[in-house]
Amino acid sequence: MFDIICKDSNLTYNAYHIAKAFYPTEVIKLQVREEASDFVLMKKDGDVIAKVSYNEKSVLKHEIDCLLYKKLSAITGKELPWGILTGVRPTKIAMEKTMAGMNKDDFVKWIGNELFVSKEKAVLSWNIVKREKEILDKIDAGNGFSLYIGIPFCPTICDYCSFGSGSLDKWGSFVDDYLRVLIKEIKAVGNLVGKKNLQTIYIGGGTPTTLSTKQLELLSSAIEKSFKCGSLLEYTLEAGRSDTITKEKLEVIKRHGITRISINPQTMQQRTLDLVGRQTPIESIVRAFHQARDLGFDNINMDLIAGLPLETAEDMRDTLQQIMVLNPDSLTVHALARKRASNYGRSNDGMANNVTNKYSANGEIEKMLELSKNAADAIKMEPYYLYRQKDIAGNFENIGFAKIDKAGIYNILIMEEIQSIIALGAGATSKIVLPKPISVGNGKTSRYIRSTNDKSIDGYIRRVDEMIQRKEELLCLW
Ligand code: SF4
Repeated sequence: MFDIICKDSNLTYNAYHIAKAFYPTEVIKLQVREEASDFVLMKKDGDVIAKVSYNEKSVLKHEIDCLLYKKLSAITGKELPWGILTGVRPTKIAMEKTMAGMNKDDFVKWIGNELFVSKEKAVLSWNIVKREKEILDKIDAGNGFSLYIGIPFCPTICDYCSFGSGSLDKWGSFVDDYLRVLIKEIKAVGNLVGKKNLQTIYIGGGTPTTLSTKQLELLSSAIEKSFKCGSLLEYTLEAGRSDTITKEKLEVIKRHGITRISINPQTMQQRTLDLVGRQTPIESIVRAFHQARDLGFDNINMDLIAGLPLETAEDMRDTLQQIMVLNPDSLTVHALARKRASNYGRSNDGMANNVTNKYSANGEIEKMLELSKNAADAIKMEPYYLYRQKDIAGNFENIGFAKIDKAGIYNILIMEEIQSIIALGAGATSKIVLPKPISVGNGKTSRYIRSTNDKSIDGYIRRVDEMIQRKEELLCLW
């Protein structure tokens, strides 16, 4: 048991995450005590193991983080690949430095000295930003926009999932009504966007292929009739769970111009899929992939997760061998994150808590990520986007790899926030990027205005007119 006592609430977030990265298996309790005589005091089972005190003259938060990092690094003999970087996207920093004219060598030195980021991760961030920039050059930031459409239904709910999707056994009777009101929102927003230039569409969820062939036909036709799709750079549909994919559904989406699909195994180990509540037969993944290829889909992404319960690096090696045989066009590798809204997050002694912590502590997840990188390299993919989440296994990262010209443009737009994204459906968050910052109170300014639809399926169905009204108000500011 670790206790961290901070003098100021501003110090708790970083102190917690730095400590957690060094001691992933420990329970850490945080307290703020304004009267404390040290900035940060860290105790293990009641004994002081590290402190950042006044006589170190650290008045800046950043310096306090650095001192804590150095102390824990000296005690544990470990260095963290991402150093003290918590809560900020590494590529955001690399992008800012590139735009400011810094070169690669200086960036690697700077981020190593300032934030203790390893050379390997610094180079990775820099290379990704270089690739992102090539893609962002094609984006119409001022007059262009992207469209997100959420289908929040899945056959069953995976234990690690925090998307708020509804399982068919509980929510199946709502699907028709949901689709009816979603199409209402699609038509309304189609009328509101005027002459703006639609550049990417992403149908996500949930699992959009949970819809029947007829429902997919209705949805795709509504999108086609409501928006000008002539200058689309990318049109993605997440066909996440292969057991929901049929040849007929693939034919429908192909006919309606979808260019990119995701068939997501997460792992090719059947016992793991069964264990995490994702009872998808492995054969259906292979079957769906070949069906999609046979129908001419030439941009297929596959998602994997490193750190699933009871999986070892050997399981990942086997999974990657099977993926390399299929040879998708892009591969996204996530390190498992224990999200509070997932079944694992809700359960304190959940499987993921115990097992993932153990594996991240003994380097298993690091091996899995290294194997993924090598496999992506072997099938001629390069990293093109990267993000980190809170409580991510082993304090690592999620990386998207893609072949030339197969990078997921929408994924980069989400990260880089240079283009407005209008999001429809339950829980979907729209983000309007303004030409210049506006005041948001307390002396702060922002270039973004966000609006989130009702998160619950039944709430969204009931309140769709209100959601449309909000869109009208939001798009007036555009
Ligand atoms: S299939 Fe995807 S969206 Fe559905 S529960 Fe599993 S992880 Fe969540």
